[in-house]
Amino acid sequence: MNQTNQKIYIIGAGISGLVAAINLEKKGYAPIILEATDRIGGRVKTDIVKGYQLDHGFQVLLESYPKAKEYLDYKKLELQSFLPGATIYKNRNSQTIGDPTRSLKMLVPTMSSSIGTLGDKVKILKLNKSLKKKSLEDIFKEEEKTTLKYLQDKGFSKSMITDFFKPFFSGIFLESSLETSSRMFEFVYKMFGTGMATLPKAGIGAIPKQLQEQLATTQIKLDTAVKEISGQTITLENGEVLESDYIIIATEASHIVPNLRGQETPWKSCVNLYFEADAPKDRKPLIGLVADENTRINNIFYHDTLETVTTGAKSLLSVTVVDDSDLSIEALSAMVSSELSTYCGIKGATFLKSYEIRKALPELNNLRNNCAPSETQLTNNIFLAGDHLLNGSLNAAMVSGERAVEGVIEKIEGLLK
Ligand SMILES: Cc1cc2nc3c(=O)[nH]c(=O)nc-3n(C[C@H](O)[C@H](O)[C@H](O)COP(=O)(O)OP(=O)(O)OC[C@H]3O[C@@H](n4cnc5c(N)ncnc54)[C@H](O)[C@@H]3O)c2cc1C
Repeated sequence: MNQTNQKIYIIGAGISGLVAAINLEKKGYAPIILEATDRIGGRVKTDIVKGYQLDHGFQVLLESYPKAKEYLDYKKLELQSFLPGATIYKNRNSQTIGDPTRSLKMLVPTMSSSIGTLGDKVKILKLNKSLKKKSLEDIFKEEEKTTLKYLQDKGFSKSMITDFFKPFFSGIFLESSLETSSRMFEFVYKMFGTGMATLPKAGIGAIPKQLQEQLATTQIKLDTAVKEISGQTITLENGEVLESDYIIIATEASHIVPNLRGQETPWKSCVNLYFEADAPKDRKPLIGLVADENTRINNIFYHDTLETVTTGAKSLLSVTVVDDSDLSIEALSAMVSSELSTYCGIKGATFLKSYEIRKALPELNNLRNNCAPSETQLTNNIFLAGDHLLNGSLNAAMVSGERAVEGVIEKIEGLLK
């Protein structure tokens, strides 16, 4: 058989699966992607509701991600940048802090804010400088500790941690105790410090769309859920049986590979609620963080402070609730509306839609940024991809898709056993 006639299936059309397909095509293969849902993108999707662009969960593309630079055309995505800072709501007041070295607009509010001591501000500048110089390889070689311990060891004050780091990084790590590895903290901090946080003009879902546009010979079969993989045989939920030469499982494999049952990845969850609201007084693209204890809201963002392709009649307000909530959506949205009014001074916001994301980010130890192609090999013909192999980010999902393909190619060329 001509090598490129190998029948290669990719399970999952998320970022890792799409990047795997791009790389297989580069090597002359024409893979088939089997995707359980009715759309590509996995966790990265955007709906249009009443003209508003609703991303499935508040997420940002950090333009410094090395792999995103390789796979995405930022210009065509018309990336819209957030200001490098945040508005912090506490005790019914708000203050804005940010990185004045990247946006002069941040200088006055940051220097005059009461968040953190002068010593904290100096430590922030030092951290920025040292992480700018530190390579990603070095970051992921560091001994791991919790982010909380890392910040305490760096000498940040209690108020700086509770009023800034905790709300900011809870929204990124999707957990509010800052238990996430210090490697992830350094990685994300470095990415924030060396480029802008952005969103494509058409919403986060434009990212997988652009990856899909790079595919020419790949077939994508939507609404095609895989039930089980055994050897080279793929059994679909609809009973159909497919034979393959190689399979890349670009999602958690434990639910489809019988030998992996019981080895499920634990996941962190969140709820993202959207509201229609009156336009904010101060139209700046800044993330809002609620630093008061015992509130449900972690962060808020007015999406129309960035340019979007489509807009609704009013302002679109996104609210992220991090900690697992036992409340119904009706009860949670009522509670969030009340907190918006009490803590952020946002009155009369009307609930639009919510996304409960049970499997938002993998909960991992020993976070990595890369792996050897051979480490993606599960069996003779099955290879693995997905952010859960490395760390929960778009960058890691892309790296994992690339490594899985390198594993398959090495196997085909007889370099792997
Ligand atoms: C709320 C939220 C906020 C985030 N914020 C950020 C952020 O700001 N920056 C950042 O870099 N990253 C962020 N992320 C993480 C980022 O979205 C993920 O790392 C990335 O999308 C993972 O891609 P993936 O291909 O590994 O997995 P997935 O996107 O999960 O793709 C897996 C695909 O496999 C399909 N599938 C699963 N089982 C089967 C089956 N049996 N048969 C067929 N198909 C199947 C799924 O339907 C899915 O399409 C965030 C994620 C969430 C949810």
